[in-house]
Amino acid sequence: MDDRPFVVERPEELRRRWDQCAVSGLDRTRGPEWALERWKALRDLIVGWYGLDDPHAVGDLVETRVGWMDAVQRLIVERQFGAWRAMFPRDPTVEVDLDPPAASVIDHERRVELRVRPTFGFRHADGSEWVRLRTGRSFSSVDEAAVLALGGEEGIVLDAVVGAGVAEEVVSPDDPAGIVSDLMELATRGVDRHADRHTGPWCFSCSSSSRCGAYPLVEPGRVYVSTRSLNVSKTQLGWLDTCQRRVAWDRLYAVRPDIDDEIDTRSAATGIVFHEMAAAAAVSDDPGPIVGAACRGVAPSEAAELQRLWANHERLWADEGPPSARMTEFPAGVSFLVPGVHIDRRGRRSKQPVAITMIGILDLTGRERDGTPMVVEHRTGASTEHRPLELDLYALSTAEYIRARTGIWPARVAVHLHALGPEEPECTRTVLTPEDVAVARERLEGAARTVASWDPENTLDPPFSAGRWCDRCHHREICETYR
Ligand code: SF4
Ligand code: SF4
Repeated sequence: MDDRPFVVERPEELRRRWDQCAVSGLDRTRGPEWALERWKALRDLIVGWYGLDDPHAVGDLVETRVGWMDAVQRLIVERQFGAWRAMFPRDPTVEVDLDPPAASVIDHERRVELRVRPTFGFRHADGSEWVRLRTGRSFSSVDEAAVLALGGEEGIVLDAVVGAGVAEEVVSPDDPAGIVSDLMELATRGVDRHADRHTGPWCFSCSSSSRCGAYPLVEPGRVYVSTRSLNVSKTQLGWLDTCQRRVAWDRLYAVRPDIDDEIDTRSAATGIVFHEMAAAAAVSDDPGPIVGAACRGVAPSEAAELQRLWANHERLWADEGPPSARMTEFPAGVSFLVPGVHIDRRGRRSKQPVAITMIGILDLTGRERDGTPMVVEHRTGASTEHRPLELDLYALSTAEYIRARTGIWPARVAVHLHALGPEEPECTRTVLTPEDVAVARERLEGAARTVASWDPENTLDPPFSAGRWCDRCHHREICETYR
């Protein structure tokens, strides 16, 4: 008899590990928990609602089940609960399954089970509906759809995206068996902690970032599974001085943006395409075809702007001499262990080390002609200056990166800001000595202490600062209610 245990995998996690970073999740810490807490609370509310004798006693139900939440979190859950009630009203002719069976596909040979769980089931006279409660923005992946198609109950499956108030059918992919076979193979692959660790934009939401080694601690210390942790991007660091609430709501409390980010979406989109194009073209011996392909993929006016930005990029390098480029779109950063609010599983509070990881995507790294390590920031908008703490993070993370690989702290680090947006492009070059980097590190540590001081259980704890910048803030609607 084969008594090897079965490994149970969730398809989307499995695929994400192998498409992005297989080490993600192996060295977890206690990352922000609000998104999951809200999902659980909403599910709990829905379960309670279908069991209510008096369907109008919703207020009492909400008070009982989510009364413990702070006002902002509660508002978000209440809105989503309202969306659910509108989408799936109580109907005495429909039997509600509050704990439906999971869709499951088992490979006995490999001892792997792939599992996808609907949250609720509705048995109508003419068939069943299985509904997956989604409190984020995403719908079921193709991999999940394959498992639902092969191993689910009879009936249709719906994704209920309560934030948007929409329910959409999960359609089976063309070749679910092929997809499942592929997933089974991934589930049995061994992980090499070094070779399979891949940094990328996904690191921003990874709870292993302060332990995996990609963003090292700036001082010796130990981060445990129980250590609270938080990741902050370089852009969010830049916002800390302006409004802590905005950063905290994005990173710690997972408050969903209430309006579309209105920051000049057209120029922002061009900037994104330029950065993608430049990442490939800047390290190519023949950038022309890469630039040409990018320009063919956009509207003529945008193509003209891309051409202009690229010409400005080349003009700057013609002035400075061609760079020795090493990497583009390179995620770099550091972690701090600083005192902060810690709440244990029993709700007891104490001051304990909190791991704060700061991550920036470096547009281009390499060496200047004399060998000085160099970071280049491509700026496609009107701004020609660094945002607060941006320069500090570039310099410290580059110096730490070099020290980790060579054992030597670099004598200097050069940071170039290439302002490509103006008609006359401009390079601002800053050279930082080890003393400058030490000052940068102090400033970043101060920012880490600020972030660690936010009360993880009170969304209204971080101070806000209202001003003209609020016009462009995606938390404006809820924020104005709680000032
Ligand atoms: S932080 Fe990035 S590199 Fe490190 S484990 Fe997470 S996803 Fe992988
Ligand atoms: S609306 Fe203004 S005060 Fe509120 S979080 Fe945004 S920037 Fe801060």
